Amino acid sequence: MTSPEHKLAEPTNTIGSHACVLLIAADADEAARVLGELGSVTEERFQVEWVTELSRGIERLRDGGVGAAVLDLNLPGSLGVETFDELFQAAPGVPILILSDPDTEAMARQVVERGAQDYLLKEQVDGYRLRRTVRTMMDRRAAEAVALENEVANATLDSIGEAVLRTDISGNVTYLNRIAEKMTGWVREEALGRPITDVLRLVDCVSGAAVDNAVATVIHGDGTATAMISFISCTLVRRDGIKLGIENRVTVVDDQAGNRIGAVVVIRDVGAARAASLETSRASQHDVLTNLPNRTLFNDRLKQAISLAERQGKQLAVLFVDLDHFKRINDSLGHTMGDNLLRSVAGRLMACVRRTDTVCRMGGDEFVILLSQVEHAEDAALTARKILRAVAAPHIIDNKSLDVNVSIGGSTYPDGAQDAESLLGQADAAMYEAKQHGRNRYEFFRSDMRRRLATRLALEGDLRYALGRNEFVLHYQPKIDLKTGLITGMEALIRWQHPERGMLLPAAFVPIAEECGLILPIGQWVLLEACRQSRAWSDSGLGVMPVAVNVSAVEFQGKDFLSGVRAVLIATGMEPQNLELELTESVLMADAESAMVTLLALKAMGVRLAIDDFGTGYSSFTYLRRFPVDTLKVDQSFVQDITADPEGKTMVDAMINIGKSLNHRVIAEGVETRSQLDFLQRHGCGEGQGYYFSHPVVADQAGSLFKADLQQGPHC
Ligand code: C2E
Ligand code: MG
Ligand code: MG
Repeated sequence: MTSPEHKLAEPTNTIGSHACVLLIAADADEAARVLGELGSVTEERFQVEWVTELSRGIERLRDGGVGAAVLDLNLPGSLGVETFDELFQAAPGVPILILSDPDTEAMARQVVERGAQDYLLKEQVDGYRLRRTVRTMMDRRAAEAVALENEVANATLDSIGEAVLRTDISGNVTYLNRIAEKMTGWVREEALGRPITDVLRLVDCVSGAAVDNAVATVIHGDGTATAMISFISCTLVRRDGIKLGIENRVTVVDDQAGNRIGAVVVIRDVGAARAASLETSRASQHDVLTNLPNRTLFNDRLKQAISLAERQGKQLAVLFVDLDHFKRINDSLGHTMGDNLLRSVAGRLMACVRRTDTVCRMGGDEFVILLSQVEHAEDAALTARKILRAVAAPHIIDNKSLDVNVSIGGSTYPDGAQDAESLLGQADAAMYEAKQHGRNRYEFFRSDMRRRLATRLALEGDLRYALGRNEFVLHYQPKIDLKTGLITGMEALIRWQHPERGMLLPAAFVPIAEECGLILPIGQWVLLEACRQSRAWSDSGLGVMPVAVNVSAVEFQGKDFLSGVRAVLIATGMEPQNLELELTESVLMADAESAMVTLLALKAMGVRLAIDDFGTGYSSFTYLRRFPVDTLKVDQSFVQDITADPEGKTMVDAMINIGKSLNHRVIAEGVETRSQLDFLQRHGCGEGQGYYFSHPVVADQAGSLFKADLQQGPHC
């Protein structure tokens, strides 16, 4: 043996197959023996390289490709342990077997403690033992390397933001990274070996139906690209039932020989992205202020509910809910309060219905409710009553207590209407009917309502042009001093000379004008026309003729009311004390404190004030005393009762006395008969007004009455 670099036959073992064994030994005979044993043609046959010096050995190790080293500690110039340390540091990953003489065995043991794999005494080394030790050493190191590689791979997989699961060919889980543990709710120990379908439960995002995870399809696919990769967007149901929006990608895994051995599933959490897109679609279907479904979503739900009810032979109902006088609240308290009130009402409505029902804000102060499970028509009425009560309870907003009511219109399927549009139309018509009948109530659709609604809508349309076309006229009804029988003033009462419908009384159009806001310009016209007429009478030499003008709530609470009155007085040159404004109790009591402010301002202008229809509202005596009014007008219903029953007499008597005790003028409205007049005169009522004296008449006739008054004397 002269050549130290010695190559033997190719190895047959696959593990560490390309690595050689490096023999570092100075003794040629010894080396030849070892080389012979390791390279012998058995199933364990190594490729061995031999060097005689430590420095060459270190160099060789650094070049790489060495699977194990066999080191004879008895090298020339070797210092034993130090020799080993040097070698070990050159390649700590390469296992080293020590060949030792018996007298250096203690040193060999020491070297093993410092990192060598094992030692063999030269005299005991036979071929079999040597090969087995080297083989074991190399296998162990290869296994350690694989484990380390896996560890690094797993750490890498753990650090990526996606969940990774591996399965074997049967679809059983063989690996899952930490994110996969989190997303599936399965810990590794429990998940390993289980079918992937147990660990990865997927359902459809919309229908909730189970979705195949595609592992089996991919594994047993025909090998085409599409069969090998599957991409699904769905919902992952975690072990605890929590749902996550995910994207699921499955890829086949083949071994080096191209045999299919399993699949890899990579899952990406798209919850946030999907939540964002859901939010966008939610925003387009919900009302920003109340967060309730909007008209679009409501229409969808209504249509769905109708087809379901049709299939199941069930009933459903639609309730149209509209706040009463919401505009007043908005105008007087501001939009922020108005918005808060709408939110509060939305909450009350939600509390009145079932989870399966839909409450929607149609816009403004209009809500609509779909009652999807109605057993009997009466159920819907019950809910309507519940809503009236719930909304009527005070709303505490910004430490203020606000009262609001709603009017409700209802329609039912299939008895009332069969399609969504008609149901809504009917509920709307019924809601208007509820408004007409005094608000704070509900009505269910009846066929006669449709005609009335159509008339109403047509009138509303015509009303917009009536002022411009000069279709309004004022009639005047005199007020008579019951002692002297002389006219004390005229009340201006509006009429609408409709081009097709003829002369319309206020009841037919004033409520509509109030609702759509047209009462503001109309009221301003009435005020101006009445004052102008009063001036015209006095200018024609008839003397001073006070006029009374009716003011509705919308006008009184409007922010331009005071300036409007002032402007008319200036424009017409009317003496303020000759103008009397008639306000009803309900207008004054709706918000008594702000009413007080307006009344005082009017009083300061010198205008006179009357409470109209006295006795029909709910006046507080405290306010009656404090309001700076001049006149109480006893409502005609009480005056008519004078002759009907004894109680009527008592009531009117009481009202006259209240007026007197407050130092107010008392005017009895609707005096129609002599006996009513007698009673009123006997009980000291100051003035009267009614058909007994005169119907409301046009200005010319009123002027004649005034003239006659002056020429012929008293009317009673
Ligand atoms: P009001 O102010 O109480 O007016 C009295 C109503 O009773 C008038 O009805 C009048 O024609 C009617 N009347 C007068 N004497 C008798 C009688 O002896 N018997 C009966 N049964 N009725 C009598 P009209 O003109 O239809 O007005 C109704 C209501 O419409 C008024 O009640 C008033 O509240 C409102 N109104 C009238 N004109 C205006 C107006 O210019 N602006 C506003 N905002 N409301 C008005
Ligand atoms: Mg009046
Ligand atoms: Mg009245």
